[in-house]
Amino acid sequence: MSALSRLTPAIEPGTVWLVGAGPGDPGLLTVHAANALAQADVVVHDALIGEGVLALAREGAVLEYAGKRGGKPSAVQRDICERLIALARAGKRVVRLKGGDPFVFGRGGEEALALAQAGIRFRIVPGVSSGLAALAIHGVPATTRDTNHAVVLATGHAAEGAGGTDWAALARTGAPIVLYMAVSTLPSIAAGLIEGGLAATTPVLVVHAATSTREEIIEASLAELPALAQAGRIASPAIVAIGAIARVRAALAEHLLAYRQAASA
Ligand code: SAH
Repeated sequence: MSALSRLTPAIEPGTVWLVGAGPGDPGLLTVHAANALAQADVVVHDALIGEGVLALAREGAVLEYAGKRGGKPSAVQRDICERLIALARAGKRVVRLKGGDPFVFGRGGEEALALAQAGIRFRIVPGVSSGLAALAIHGVPATTRDTNHAVVLATGHAAEGAGGTDWAALARTGAPIVLYMAVSTLPSIAAGLIEGGLAATTPVLVVHAATSTREEIIEASLAELPALAQAGRIASPAIVAIGAIARVRAALAEHLLAYRQAASA
């Protein structure tokens, strides 16, 4: 047993670990996440998990893509929860692998509630959320003492029934806004933010497929966002950071080593 593998408890049969896989690069997995993959009987994973991460699963582990079960294009959340419960009841050591952090826009909370209600024991392994990682690797600090004392993480896809997001109100907080799942809704979000008083010149950094070999970054202003989105220049998955923090990058760029993308991420 290596010193690193001793840091993680054994997964008990019949339990589920909700594990964050980070933004894609296997190098950004936590030690617990890597050790969990090395122990699991079954890994139930989302679409955004990089191949390099899945390659770390124990030889013989069953990899189940949660998005395609039953031939459906996109699995219903209830089906995924039921599957996790069934696997645990069958005595498996289950890793439920989710992109980034399982509790940041990842429905990990819903899955944990379903497991609790079913009497299944589980553990949560936090991950590096893409909204922070995509910025950090490109020299955009989520906070600096000069620019902001708060940061907003927001989804562009408010769940049905949860009410819409008041973008103008978020703009008035003055805090930078980091958007997840916002590619299709960027034009209306940008309009709402400008209505709330954000300057059209507010800097924006868009990072597509952060930490993967397909990564692309775009620097723009808030006013330019809708046209970029409508022209199809911004593809999903992307993180969109809006605010003065995006400007810090320019001061760091000359000395910031290029992020080394993992070949298989
Ligand atoms: N739990 C995840 C977020 C899941 S929601 C986390 O903490 O990161 C899915 C959204 O995450 C995508 O629409 C995109 O906005 C963002 N995302 C996930 N991985 C990404 C990546 N490698 N690069 C850019 N955005 C990513």
